[in-house]
Amino acid sequence: MPGSALGIIGSGQLGSMLCQAAKKLNIKTVVISDDDKGPAQNFTDEFIFSKYEDKNKIKEFLKKVDIVTYEFENIPVNVLEEIEKEKKVYPKPEINKIIQNRKLEKTFVNNLGIKTTKWAFIKSARDIKKNEKLLPGILKTNTLGYDGRGQFILNSIDDLNKNWCFTADYILEKKVNLKKEISVVISRFKNGEKHIYEPIENIHKDQILKYSKIPADIKSNIYAEAQESAILIANKLDYVGTMCVEYFIDNKENLLVNEIAPRVHNSGHLTINAFSISQFENHIRAVCGLKKEKVEKIANAEMINILGKEIEMYRKKSYKTNEFFFDYEKTVIKEKRKMGHLTILKKDNSI
Ligand code: ADP
Ligand code: MG
Repeated sequence: MPGSALGIIGSGQLGSMLCQAAKKLNIKTVVISDDDKGPAQNFTDEFIFSKYEDKNKIKEFLKKVDIVTYEFENIPVNVLEEIEKEKKVYPKPEINKIIQNRKLEKTFVNNLGIKTTKWAFIKSARDIKKNEKLLPGILKTNTLGYDGRGQFILNSIDDLNKNWCFTADYILEKKVNLKKEISVVISRFKNGEKHIYEPIENIHKDQILKYSKIPADIKSNIYAEAQESAILIANKLDYVGTMCVEYFIDNKENLLVNEIAPRVHNSGHLTINAFSISQFENHIRAVCGLKKEKVEKIANAEMINILGKEIEMYRKKSYKTNEFFFDYEKTVIKEKRKMGHLTILKKDNSI
């Protein structure tokens, strides 16, 4: 609703891009974050720096906003549930509760008849021994992982350090012989209408997204299956907003869900320039109860993630009219940290 105020939890680059999309729609934003250096403060109308557990600050935040959304899924569920008592939260906290927990997420997906990697829930070294058939595999913390954090490659049981402390719950996933990775970004509106973007092809390096492009070089049956599964997942969750389903395609052409992101997604950054309405604008439209608008494709595109020190070189470069450089304006450069991205539109459709 133009004229109303949207609260956004989290102040990273996704928050920044949500703020910019809201501004375009004349929707005021208030960002709350526990990072006093979060770049979204440069793009929001108001910024509140606070621990998420600080009830007084949350109260102050809620007084200023009509609707609440978030840019990352690892917000404590009890905090989101408290917020939901006062204001509408989209996507609903109960969705977040499933997706921020790999075991619940994979069980949900498998129960829909959609394939994931083979996996098991792990609490101890004994559980790993019982699931040796999943090796070589990847041990992932059951909650709180992102950009490959909290992941450990286990080629054999001997890789399990004797002093390994099982301080958290894990899942063990069989390592997939990857042919390709793709993602599908979908925005679902309150009346159940959807806009689904075409599948995006992704390349990860050291478990971090490095490169995305459209069109994805995939067979038409994989294209259709990826979109159908994303629609099924969004409908089943009664999802409101933009979400992303990450998929693996293995060397036997099986399509497997890797994970769901209940939020706008890095691979969808190219939608800002390649489509008339981006994943961010569609998210804002959906959570604020606006109607779905027709989305036109402008061009094929590729996107390069700029990590760590690479940003220094990109800041000095000059760009052509089909190249769009985004500097996230992060004050501290850290190795492997996402610092910006570059989208290149392929006007001649050459990719
Ligand atoms: P995060 O939550 O950190 O994004 P993911 O589970 O998506 O973690 O893993 C990040 C990347 O690591 C994937 O995109 C993929 O490239 C690689 N990866 C993760 N799990 C597997 C697997 N089971 N087999 C092969 N590669 C994997
Ligand atoms: Mg991922």
